[in-house]
Amino acid sequence: MLPGKPYLSLADTKVKENSFVLRWDEHKPLKSYEFYQVKYRQIPNGKWLIYDRDTSISVPSTRIHGLKPDTAYTFKVRITNSITSQEEQFSKESEVIKTKKSTTDFLLSRSELVQQNGPRIYMLPVREIEPARDKIHFTRKYTLGSGGKDDIKKTVLMVGSTGSGKSTLINAMVNYILGVNWEDPCRFKLVHLDKNENNSLKSQANSQTEWITSYTIYNDVSSRIDFSVTLIDTPGFGDTKGLDQDSKIVSQIERLFTAANTSISIKTIDAVCFILKAPDARLTESQKYIFESILALFGNDMRENIYSLITFADGQIPPVLSSLAAFDGSPLPFNTYFTFNNSAFFVDNRNENNTFSKRFWDMGITSCEVFFRSLKEIKTANLSLTSNVLFTRTELNSTSNLLLNEIEFGFDKVRILKNVIEEFRECTKMMKDNENFHYTVQESRNKKIDISGQGIHTTTCLNCSFTCHENCSKSKDEEKRDCSVMDQNGKCTKCPNNCIWQDHSNTHFIFKKELISTRMTYESMLLSYRKAFIKRSSKARKLAETRNEMLQIKSNLLIQKEKIETNTNKLKEIALQPEIKSISPYIDLLKESELREKKPGFNQRLEQLQKAKKQILVRKLCTECISEFDSALQTANELLILDTSILHTDLN
Ligand SMILES: [Zn+2]
Ligand SMILES: [Zn+2]
Ligand SMILES: [Zn+2]
Repeated sequence: MLPGKPYLSLADTKVKENSFVLRWDEHKPLKSYEFYQVKYRQIPNGKWLIYDRDTSISVPSTRIHGLKPDTAYTFKVRITNSITSQEEQFSKESEVIKTKKSTTDFLLSRSELVQQNGPRIYMLPVREIEPARDKIHFTRKYTLGSGGKDDIKKTVLMVGSTGSGKSTLINAMVNYILGVNWEDPCRFKLVHLDKNENNSLKSQANSQTEWITSYTIYNDVSSRIDFSVTLIDTPGFGDTKGLDQDSKIVSQIERLFTAANTSISIKTIDAVCFILKAPDARLTESQKYIFESILALFGNDMRENIYSLITFADGQIPPVLSSLAAFDGSPLPFNTYFTFNNSAFFVDNRNENNTFSKRFWDMGITSCEVFFRSLKEIKTANLSLTSNVLFTRTELNSTSNLLLNEIEFGFDKVRILKNVIEEFRECTKMMKDNENFHYTVQESRNKKIDISGQGIHTTTCLNCSFTCHENCSKSKDEEKRDCSVMDQNGKCTKCPNNCIWQDHSNTHFIFKKELISTRMTYESMLLSYRKAFIKRSSKARKLAETRNEMLQIKSNLLIQKEKIETNTNKLKEIALQPEIKSISPYIDLLKESELREKKPGFNQRLEQLQKAKKQILVRKLCTECISEFDSALQTANELLILDTSILHTDLN
């Protein structure tokens, strides 16, 4: 049986100025080697032509492209056998189908001519959505055409450094969408600058904030795509603008996603496009930082929605891919990417010999085709996980800041405790040095000991008051000449004066030498000891007090560290880019440039950078702080236990 008469499919799309979807009823299933062939003819006098010989149509519908605007066509279909080349009979002819009037013509009448030479360039008549203008965070929205409720809507965020070709790419995309052809005498521009923005760009006073501008091109004016698309143009970043501008851009984008006002905010994203120049063999630190920071805004459900758009491509493998591959750990895709070369979009097309530019134009159109086809297929990401990521990141940052303060406070306390420990030890040493403030003086004294009645004789020198022989056999005084202590001359060998024997007698007592100790005190030492003791007691109290404070701080540190761990782990789980790894080299770069340029306020900014750097290291700092705490606390505890053991017991 023949295929049914072709008809216009109104189910999923509208008739465009140069395309629509054609359907027909399938009366028998095709075999694997059978395909449909579509022929078409311009009404009233056109010849029958085969539509798109190169594509094998195996389902009973196809999008017909490349038609003329405001023109009537008719279609017929037949089945062909790809093996035998046998062709079956054609279906009946379709009704006459007329394409839409050219939107180009429609738009031209409303656009402002901004360049006369080459192809005339027109600024598109975009309309601003007034309530969407956020004057604080510099975000705004423009529209072109008007939207139908059932339109498929796609949102594309465009991010690129200054000179990446972002503006040209956006304009090229718009010309593609609007169906501008190489032969057309006009081109359109979308990227829209206020008058004063123009002036500021001219005067190179670039420090002011630039706008993030969303352009929604509605389906009713688009000709090569069958959905509405919002292109979000972000300020170009990069070294020439001043490095502090870069992080401003990131927070502007963040604001756009998180604004509570729904007129202002963007709630879904289909593609986050990073625009890279094909010849860039290395990413700069600022590129890495911006890319990571922007990727860090999103949830990991966005992985498929991240696009690398490579401009200035020449058909070779772009060198920038290797720099993406080397961009360790980043989810920036370098396996799937889109190449563009927009060099032909705005060049003069009137020169007949300009086949080179025509070829680039065709490449540009093909690139856009591939890109927008992919964009249509990609699953729209709503930004709920993203807002979760942003919330977690905000919490992480504020906890980090709190923790940083606490750590600073903690390190101060450690210093204080260490000082107290030092002073305590000095006191202890002072006490030890002066602990012998008592001393003993010994005197020998002669003591008379009565031995009467014991039957003992003595030889005692009365002259010296000294008992020379305690148990003498000679009892009589006149016999003392023969006492064993006397020498041959009759002189005593014992008593201090070696008196003659006649000075000695037998006494009923003996003289005994006795040592008498008297305890004396060094007053100055006692004073020092006392002073040290009192000081040490107060240091011990201070020690205990500081230790208790530190235990409290330590428990705070641990709680906040735990919070940070939790949020960090949560980000690892849900964020596309959990950690901005390039922030450290980026901060170094900023510091270098601040130090080099010394622009007003650089000191303050350096301080902020220092803080930012600390914030990255907050977990490491916290661990260090806690370990210092532990060692200082242990010392303090040991000292406090020892405290009582060295005390002097008789401190009188
Ligand atoms: Zn004797
Ligand atoms: Zn004697
Ligand atoms: Zn004597």
